[in-house]
Order: sequence, then C-alpha cells, then structure tokens
Amino acid sequence: MASTVYFGSAHQAQLVPEETLPFKLERIIEKLQIRDRVKDEVVAIKMHLGGNVGYSTIHPVFVRRVVDAVKQGGGKPFVCDLSWAVLTAYTRGYTPETVGCPIVPVDGPNEKYVYWYERPFMNIDRWGMGGFMHDATFLIDLAHIKGHPSCGFGGCFKNLALGGFVHETRGKIHDTSHHKKYWFAEKCPDDASRKKIIEGCPLNGIIEDKNDPRELHLHIENCNQCKRCLKIAPKGSLEIRADTFAAFQQACAIAVDLVFSTFAPEKRVFLSVANQLTAVCDCFGFTGLSILPDIGVFGSNDPVAIEKAVLDKVARLKVIPENLPRCMEHQPNAGHPFQQIHGPYKDPHIMVRECEKLGHGTTDYEWVDVMPVKEGGVMDTFVNTGGAA
Ligand code: SF4
Repeated sequence: MASTVYFGSAHQAQLVPEETLPFKLERIIEKLQIRDRVKDEVVAIKMHLGGNVGYSTIHPVFVRRVVDAVKQGGGKPFVCDLSWAVLTAYTRGYTPETVGCPIVPVDGPNEKYVYWYERPFMNIDRWGMGGFMHDATFLIDLAHIKGHPSCGFGGCFKNLALGGFVHETRGKIHDTSHHKKYWFAEKCPDDASRKKIIEGCPLNGIIEDKNDPRELHLHIENCNQCKRCLKIAPKGSLEIRADTFAAFQQACAIAVDLVFSTFAPEKRVFLSVANQLTAVCDCFGFTGLSILPDIGVFGSNDPVAIEKAVLDKVARLKVIPENLPRCMEHQPNAGHPFQQIHGPYKDPHIMVRECEKLGHGTTDYEWVDVMPVKEGGVMDTFVNTGGAA
C-alpha cells in the first residue's frame, strides 16, 4: 500500500503569510495529526542545529510551530542534536525561548549518556546511540535538506544516523568507505608515481597516509569519482569503485534501523524542510549559496516515502552550477542533481533502498499538496500586517 507524503510548495500565488512555508508546515502538522498523537509523550525533536556561522539550518520560526503543536497536544517536547551543535546553538538563534522548549545534546554535554548496541558491520562492532533521544517515547525527525559530501544528500535518515550517535560511531561510519582496499601499494612502489597521482587530482581527493607514505587514502568527501587519477596510476594500483562510496550509506541505514528499534512506527513523524539547499552539510559551520531552488516542506509517517519524494522532487530541478563553490565541479551527466554535485557513486537513493529493505517504509507513495499554488495570482492592495497573521 502506498504511503502518503504531504507537501507544501515554497511558491506562493498571493502576497499573504498564509501561503508561505510556516503556514504550510502547520497544515502538514494537522494532516499528520501530531497534536492528537503526543499526549503525555516525551517527544524528541531531532534536528541539525548547525555550527559556527551557518544560517541555513531550519529557522526557529519552523521549529516553534512543531514545538507548539506538541505542547498543545499535551506532549513534552525537547529539541536535540549533537553536543557541539547544541552548546553553540544560541549563537545561531536557537534558545529555549525562541523554540519554546529545552534544547539538549542527544548524548549529554560530554557524550557520556550512551546506549551501546552490538551489530557488526565492516569496521563497526558497536554503535553508541544518544541516551536522551533513546529515552524519548516519541520521535519527530525534523530534517533540513541539503547536499552531503559523503552520500550526496542529507535528509531524514542522515539526520538520525549521524546526528543521533556518539563521536566514536560517527567516525566509524565515515571509515566504512576505507574498509575494503582500493589502493594496492605493491603495484606502485615508486615515490614519483604516487606524487603524480596525488597532484593529478584537482579536488585534493587523494592523500598520503600520515604514518606510511606508501599508502594512499581517498578523501571520500572531496572525491567526485571523475576517475582522472586512474589515467595516472600504474595499472591495478588504484580502484575507484561504487562499493567504496556505498558503504557509508549502508552503515547509515543500520544506524537508522537501531534508532527505529526504540520507537514504534506510530511514534515517529518525519518532516523535511527543503529550502536553502547548500552543496554540503550543515555541520560545515557556514552557509554557501543555494545549489538548487527552494522547494518547500514535506511531511509523512513513512521515512522511506518522504526521502524518495524529496529526491524525486529534486530530480525535476536543475542544479545552479554558478552557485557551486569554485573548489567543486558540476558533472551534468552524473545522474541525479545531488550526484551531479558529489559524483555518480554517491547515489542518494542507496540509503533509501537500504531502509526500505530493512522494512522501514515504501518508495511507493501518494503525493498530497496541502496548498496547490494557483497560477495568475492577483496583486492585492498591499497591507502591512506587521506580522499579526
Ligand atoms: S576520482 Fe577524481 S576526484 Fe576522485 S581522487 Fe580520482 S581524480 Fe580525484
């Protein structure tokens, strides 16, 4: 059976606040009946609070809507994210006063409040999930949509997989890409050839090992799989393979699976805000230009369906290549717009498929626009409401 994905477009016909995203988010909150579902629940609102001077994370105006809905429904909300983001969140406008509820690190201020799960996968033996998120009885996954240098894009799944786990686990998730060998030092014994390989990558995508210069590492985040290095590397010494890049998303899917093991399906809601879609993740601590047009807000009870709907919507848009940072390349023939930015092997659908296989939803969805944009809006006499609406 198809899942429902609710959508509110960033476009508007009339110059009225009711046609803008906060009001459309409100309609989605109503459609998902959040108020009716949270009475007496301890509600973790998991979001990315960004870092340093980033200002493209989800604006407190949206967060407040969600928090107020939970409180009106008799729930006890708290916003959570990684400790480093929480501790400086006030500098980016997130305070208990602005969002309307406590803001806590998922795993405590020193990353010490952790539940460990044993589930071997590649280099990972144990997974440390943030205790405060774990102990909540209801989950609202409030995700900002943007590009991501490890997996093409960040949405609901990445928000939980990286944002819900301790430093050790996050590091190991990133290291899955290095678990299977792609560099064979014995096929390239001379220093000069290794130097040429490193210098031949215009994106600083390949680097020398700190301890052993004969070993080379792919800088996964930088590499867009253009394969220029393969033309320089001696035969058989270097491989640029899809599975190297897929490993990160497979690991993220397991992390998501563990989070969902602590919340029954009816105790989860997924909301995505797709505006200010930057090239890289909010954890970079700054905001670059948008590489895609603003899209809107999405909501669903099905995380697979909402992620697929976001990706489908993005697929119909064109990358704005002139807005890419100059240190990145646009590859127009690489596939989905997020692959055009981060490379063909960073297919953003991998995590979606993995989570569907794990039984967390379906890519078969029906689309409900909560306020279709009427064409030919008439410019009414402008009235300054002073924000009263
Ligand atoms: S594939 Fe391209 S971006 Fe990646 S390391 Fe090789 S040259 Fe650099």
